[in-house]
Parts: sequence; structure tokens; C-alpha cells
Amino acid sequence: MRITDPKPQIDELEFDRALRPKTLDEFIGHTKLKENLRVFAEAAKRRGEALDHVLFYGPPGLGKTTLAYILSREMGVDIKSTSGPVIERPADLAGLLTGLKKGDILFIDEIHRLPRTVEEYLYSAMEDFRIDIVIDKGPGAQSIKLHLSPFTLIGATTRAGMITSPLLARFGMSFRLDFYTVEELSLIVKRSARLLDVEITDEGAREIAARSRGTPRIANRLLRRVRDFAEVEGNGIITLEIAHFALERLEVDERGLDEMDKKILLAIIEKFNGGPVGIKTLSLAVGEEPETIEEVYEPYLLREGFIKRTQRGRVATELAFRHFGIKAGGSLF
Ligand code: ADP
Repeated sequence: MRITDPKPQIDELEFDRALRPKTLDEFIGHTKLKENLRVFAEAAKRRGEALDHVLFYGPPGLGKTTLAYILSREMGVDIKSTSGPVIERPADLAGLLTGLKKGDILFIDEIHRLPRTVEEYLYSAMEDFRIDIVIDKGPGAQSIKLHLSPFTLIGATTRAGMITSPLLARFGMSFRLDFYTVEELSLIVKRSARLLDVEITDEGAREIAARSRGTPRIANRLLRRVRDFAEVEGNGIITLEIAHFALERLEVDERGLDEMDKKILLAIIEKFNGGPVGIKTLSLAVGEEPETIEEVYEPYLLREGFIKRTQRGRVATELAFRHFGIKAGGSLF
């Protein structure tokens, strides 16, 4: 398992759930977004209406699913959770929608992967709370109108650019989730340690936070691994020394870069002399979709100052060269 893989592993889902904040107050960071959600949720509740449809977008592990669950709790309604590729046919969607009570939330993760035929049915469901389903094919085909209870659709995606404009237009609110600062991640690590009943020092929490690629899911995962080291190699307390030792042993990059981040940077540096290189060429060099590079990997590399975007393409910065101990021009430092 890659410790910095932004996607959760199967055995990790339970762990993720246990550490998931349950209220807006427990959700760390993103203050403005939280305050806005609080106002919209409160207003909808006072009017006795379903919350407007919400879209959360941004890289994986930053809290999109968590916010959907928090909203169901704040609104006092039930939530049904599914994901774009699982809804294969319009009938699957109809089944989900007809099961919702007034105000309930349908959460669709990876909404950009919803099949187009299904997506089109979602338009009238979101807009007018009805769905016209065609049953059978050919001359015997019949259309039935299903009336739905007013509900809230919460969509999440890592690929905002892949959401079609008719779908995007039907969301009343959309929020971008960005990477967390080291300070925010330290708070998340300390909160999780408390829930796991592990003792941790401020410096220990900060060391884990700094290597978590700005991502709460990775911070929690590292905490879990470091805890193992603290129990076996130390006295159970996560100190700076134990955290440092464990993270070195786990070969977690000091700046939190994961395999693909490093591959992208090294390709720009070694194959393209530091750049500039266009996104398509880079995508071929590292074997990853251009959209994924742009929406999952680049935001962190840009924010941390490892690359710059120019008119002619991506350029590796001095910091990137230094990180790998390479001097611009090719030789080692
Ligand atoms: P996404 O849906 O964006 O991939 P999740 O909502 O599943 O991410 O978040 C991954 C894990 O990270 C959650 O289980 C939760 O424990 C933790 N987490 C995410 N955001 C926060 C936050 N703001 N404060 C505390 N923990 C968080």
C-alpha cells in the first residue's frame, strides 16, 4: 500500500468513518465554507424546505463526503450514499430517488462518472422533483411519470472540469475544497489521536501534519502507522522523535509528495530539462490522464511551489530541483 495514496483502502473505510467529524463545529478549517453552509442549512430548515442541491469539488481526502454527512445531521434528515459509476441504468436512479423522504439527501460521489443516459434523468429530478421513466422498448414503450419528494442532491467530484454544464447549472451551490495548512492538519491529527486514545505531543502532531500532502485522510493514515511505531519501538507516546523515525522508516517524503507527484516532477526535470512542457506531453511521459494531473496532482505542486504554470507549459521550480538534489542543468548538488 502506498501510504500517501489519496484514495482510501477497503480496511480503511471503517477507520475513516470513526474519525469523521459529525458536526460543522468539529470540522476543522474551511471556516468561510462552513459559515456559508451553516446559514444555508439554517435558512432551509426555518422555511421547512429541502436544502438546495450542493456540489463539492476538489482533490480526494479533503472532506467532501464528510461534509455531506454533516449536512444530513445539521438538517436532521436521512442520507443515502452512492457513487456515479454504480448507477448504471435510469431505473437504478429511479429506485434511489423514490426511496427518499421529504428533505432527505442523496449523496453521489464521483458524480462526473455518472453515465450520460442516467444523468439526463437527473435533470428533471433536480429541477421539478419528477422523473419520466420509459419502460420497455419499441412500439410498446411506455413512459411513466414519478413524482418525488423534494430532496437534496449532494454531488462530489475530484474532476470539476468533467461535469457537464446542464448538470452544473442545476446545483444551487458549489464549493471548492482546498488543501489544508500544516496548522489545520496538526489540529486534525490531535483530534484523531484523542479519539484513538493515543498520546501525542504538539511537535509529533506537526511532524505528521507536515508530511500529509495537505490532506486529512493522509494525516489520519500516517497517524495510525506512527502509532504502531510508538507502541512497538517507544512507550506509546507519539513524540517528534518517534514520528520522525516512523516516517523515515515508512519512506514518507518530507514534503508529503506521493509517487505520482514525484514522477511528474522528475519527468519535467529529467525528460524536459525543467520545462516548459505541455500537459499532453507530460501526461504521456508519466502515464496519467491530463485531467487527473491537472485536477488531482498539480494543485498541490503549484501550492507548494514545486511547479509554475506558464503560457508555454509547466516549469519545475528551483525548489523542485533542490528537493531531488539535482542542479538545474542536470548534475547533482
Ligand atoms: P473526500 O470525500 O473529499 O475524499 P472524506 O470526507 O472521505 O474526503 O475525508 C477523509 C477523512 O478525512 C475523513 O474520514 C475524516 O476523518 C477526515 N477529514 C476530512 N476533512 C476533515 C476536517 N476538516 N476535519 C477533520 N477531519 C477531516
